[in-house]
Amino acid sequence: MKQKQQKEIILKGIPASSGICAGAAYIVDKEGVKVVKKYVVTEQNIKKEINRFKTAVKKVQNNLKEIIEDNLESADIIETHIALLNDKEFYNKVAEIIEKKQVNAEWALKKVTADLTAKFKSMEASYLKDRAEDIIHISDKIMKSLIGIETVNIKTIDKRVILVARDLSPAEVSQIQLEFIKGFITDGGGKTSHTGIVARNLQIPAVLGLKNATRIINNEDIIIIDGNEGQVIVSPSDNTLAVYEEKKEKYENFKAAISRKAKLPAQTKDGFIIHVLGNIELSEEVVSVIDHGGSGIGLFRTEFEYISGSGFPTEARLFEKYKGVIEVMSPHPVTIRTLDINGDKAFNFMPSKEANPALGLRAVRYCLAKPDIFITQLRAILRASAFGNVKIMLPMIANKFEIIKAKELLYQAALSLEKENIDFKKDIEIGIMIEVPAAVITADLLAEEADFFSIGTNDLIQYVFAADRGNAEVSHLFEPLHPAILRMIKHTCDIAEYKGISVAICGEMGSDPLNLPILLGLGIKEFSMNPQSIPHIKEMLRNISVEDAKNFANKILKYTDITKITEAAQKKYEQLTKKNNSAS
Ligand code: PEP
Ligand code: MG
Repeated sequence: MKQKQQKEIILKGIPASSGICAGAAYIVDKEGVKVVKKYVVTEQNIKKEINRFKTAVKKVQNNLKEIIEDNLESADIIETHIALLNDKEFYNKVAEIIEKKQVNAEWALKKVTADLTAKFKSMEASYLKDRAEDIIHISDKIMKSLIGIETVNIKTIDKRVILVARDLSPAEVSQIQLEFIKGFITDGGGKTSHTGIVARNLQIPAVLGLKNATRIINNEDIIIIDGNEGQVIVSPSDNTLAVYEEKKEKYENFKAAISRKAKLPAQTKDGFIIHVLGNIELSEEVVSVIDHGGSGIGLFRTEFEYISGSGFPTEARLFEKYKGVIEVMSPHPVTIRTLDINGDKAFNFMPSKEANPALGLRAVRYCLAKPDIFITQLRAILRASAFGNVKIMLPMIANKFEIIKAKELLYQAALSLEKENIDFKKDIEIGIMIEVPAAVITADLLAEEADFFSIGTNDLIQYVFAADRGNAEVSHLFEPLHPAILRMIKHTCDIAEYKGISVAICGEMGSDPLNLPILLGLGIKEFSMNPQSIPHIKEMLRNISVEDAKNFANKILKYTDITKITEAAQKKYEQLTKKNNSAS
């Protein structure tokens, strides 16, 4: 591996996806365009400067036209942007400023953008206010073209590299071509941000929340990602490269060893079979769940069909996707979660304009507000339910009326299918995610309308601590083993038991082997997680008895200090793994 003679730098971040890799850095998005310099353009060069602006506009125009050809559904929005490029107030004004003030194109563009957006933002009608966003969007594209920053399309990267970005959206990560991208690192993000979740499902090493990686790392710098420890080493010495080569081999051997037993049942020492299922984002990942020994899909996140495309997916498309997963998994269960849009996953073609998307029209709230979109999805799920073992799960439930309303719409969807003589499962189970504090506190009330609970600790932790799950600055508050979270899990499990319904965990907390004894002891009956974590969790379950786990959880519940809880969890994990290693 070719190396620059540079000093080795170690960056610490949040371990988001395990594994180790080394390779050349590929900067996806440097600083953006923040500082625009103003300079004088001499009279004889004015024409050239205006032409430079025109060429940049033309480039953006062509690019947008290509996008329309690929994404006919979002043609309307893109056409608005193309029209804006030719708008007199915008286009002519920039040329006029270049000429009259004898300034560079970037500065003229910045000035016109600022003036126009201020004007539109001050208008009453919301569609005019929205126009300000369009102007910013289009101006940014022209600016990048002027300065020579090309927007990288991740899908087209065809070199073996490591991506380095300020931030990557879940949709961008899902475009990664595994034969080329070895791993990725970002300045922003948190372990349970959806970006991290997609990375785990792709099984590539990722470290997030590095804060200033894009400032320190340059294109083609050699870097090592240690996704297990959350470290990135920039310009490693030969010695460091050798150390990590060895670490990588050790880690891969360990993974291979537990994977060999992945398909054996997870039977505890006292004979309980605990089901461990997979979480998937894309229908193709179902194979990975099977390969890793998952006995079903406990969480099928359905947002990606909505966020990666350029418009709402059709019922036919959704039906085909769901049917594919269900048929491959049959007879094992597939729990399809209804659209959990917004929060940190917004429609690509219609970005959220809410000030607080995580607290806004997200998930079931969005679906109840847009019944047509919801019914399209419900019809697709119901139609697919005829092909296997399907359950429906509602995200972000905070009130009983939300379940009742969702069921009414499900009923409407069912009725319309019946009228069309289309087959579907009549007694489909409808469960809810427990991921809002109100749902924990009123779990007894919600259980009257829900067939099962699945605890979504990613959001539960976010909402309990009021700490954005994707914000690296508050990631220290994101504490799964905090007594607040443990007590909430215990309460939910107790209510589920009392009401006679099942309770699973599908948040990332459940995929950490360190947490397994506590969660089992608190009463979790089923685990669902990213596929690559399944073998390790199953192995842990085989090494413990439910009784031992209960005693341990009861002891932990008495602790008030997180450090003490974490130490005890670590000790228990070591005991269980050591015992097993000496036995085998
Ligand atoms: C959760 O919130 O824990 C969860 C599993 O759902 P998501 O991560 O998709 O929000
Ligand atoms: Mg959630």
